[in-house]
Order: sequence, then C-alpha cells, then structure tokens
Amino acid sequence: MPFYHTNMMLDIQAEILGYIYVKFKILFSVKVTFLGTGTSQGVPVITCGCKVCRSLDFRDKRLRTSIHIEVNEKSFVIDSGPDFRQQMLREQILKLDALIFTHQHKDHTAGLDDVRAFNFSQRQDIPIYGRAEVIEQLKQEFAYVFAAVKYPGVPRVKIHKIQNQQFQVEGIDIMPIEVLHYRLPVFGYRIKNFTYITDANYISDKEMRKLEGTEVLVLNALREKEHISHFSLAEALELIAKVNPRRAYLTHLSHDMGLHSEVSAKLPKNVEFAYDGLHIEC
Ligand SMILES: [Zn+2]
Ligand SMILES: [Zn+2]
Ligand SMILES: [Zn+2]
Repeated sequence: MPFYHTNMMLDIQAEILGYIYVKFKILFSVKVTFLGTGTSQGVPVITCGCKVCRSLDFRDKRLRTSIHIEVNEKSFVIDSGPDFRQQMLREQILKLDALIFTHQHKDHTAGLDDVRAFNFSQRQDIPIYGRAEVIEQLKQEFAYVFAAVKYPGVPRVKIHKIQNQQFQVEGIDIMPIEVLHYRLPVFGYRIKNFTYITDANYISDKEMRKLEGTEVLVLNALREKEHISHFSLAEALELIAKVNPRRAYLTHLSHDMGLHSEVSAKLPKNVEFAYDGLHIEC
C-alpha cells in the first residue's frame, strides 16, 4: 500500500509543520491591542457637542492612549492613563508582566493605582519601566505608593530606570527611541518589527535610524492643524513616508481630526487611523 503510506507520511509532515508554524507564531510574533487612541482629554470631550463627540460610531470613542503588547506569551502595557482600569476590563487582560512608560504626562500615568488588581492576582510587585524623570514624577504624584511605610493594599511596583539604550524585559529586547514632545524627551519603543511612538513632534536623524526596517509603525497625529507638541496629520504622514513601513497606524487623536469614517479616506493605502480595541499582529 505505498500510496496510502505516502499520504499518511505527508499528513504527519503537514501536522508537524503546522505545529512548528503555530509555535513559531506564538514565540516570535508581536500581538498588539490598542487600549486607547485618544488625546489627553479623550473623545468625546466633556461638554463638547461637535459631530465627532456626538458620533455613534464606536471608532470615534477614544480612551486615553495606551497599548497592550503580547510577545512570547509575555504581557506588557505601555502607559497607564486615566482609563487603565476600563481598558484592562474591556480587553480582559489577566496578567501584567511589565508596565512601560513613554513619559510622565498625566494622560499616560494617572491609572497607576489600578495595578493593585495585578498585585493581588499575581502576588507580586509589578515591574515598571521609565526614564529617571518619569520615575521621579511618579514618586511625587503617587507618593503613597513609594512611601517607606505603606498603607495596606496600596499598589506595589518594582522600579526599573531605563536609558536610551536597548533593555530586556522578561527576555524580550526593547529598543527605546528618544523623541521630542515640544521640549520634553519621550521614549518610543521598538520590539522586533513593531514600533510605537506617541506624544512626539520631532525625531532626530540619529533616532530615525532605529526605525529602519520596521514592519508596523504606530505614530501620534493629533489633528490636521499644527500643534506645539504633537505631529499634525501632514507631519505624521511625511514621517511615515520616510520610514516606509508595511503598515502604519495613527494614534493620540483629537476630536478635531474629524469623523473616523470621513477622514480615513484621506489616508495613503498603507496608513490608517487606529481605534480602541483594534488588534494587530506582526
Ligand atoms: Zn498624551
Ligand atoms: Zn468634540
Ligand atoms: Zn504628553
């Protein structure tokens, strides 16, 4: 029965290859979930009655900017803004291996208190990563978290100060990209072929080199009109064209950008507006 024999062998081979492929995907792909894609006030804006703030399209409802990254079965969140609790619940994030900060602005840090839930469930201090200035600001704004004598039940974190050089979290290499947000240095991050940059309006040529070959690029774009500390839509698109990634997503959007369904039509083929809950993999 050589025919059956060969077929069976092929089946087994296909099964093994399928298994290796699935394992390979789990080990090497980067799964990203946009937890929030809105600017500091979020969209809708309290008291605003504009058409974007009144829109019923779920893509026009933007919590404060943050992403979840799953790589090699590790779970990282970049920035814990004021909507952190809601974002963890919505995306059913059950484990947090590290919280990595881009910068110290409140829309990226205000939710730190809610890491308590992970303290309780994981029975461990949650590792936090940030530049020295970010950690100092957290110490001021969350003094009770860092007090020598702590009230029972306050968040417990383990501080890791990072500099502008590659670091490792749970065996994963992360490359910071130093960008400017008006005059404030902010870290973007590259993990494998995924790069995330929020709250920037300037990237030096030296730092731009770290973006070479990135497959997916997330970049902030506030609105069409220029702004003192964020890229405008035109500035962001110009930078994306220079990097030329396979796909790019715009985040940290203001209600001034317009309706998701209308303005999306203006974008080049490889660029789209991110929205809350969007999942991507690269
Ligand atoms: Zn921000
Ligand atoms: Zn509005
Ligand atoms: Zn900011």
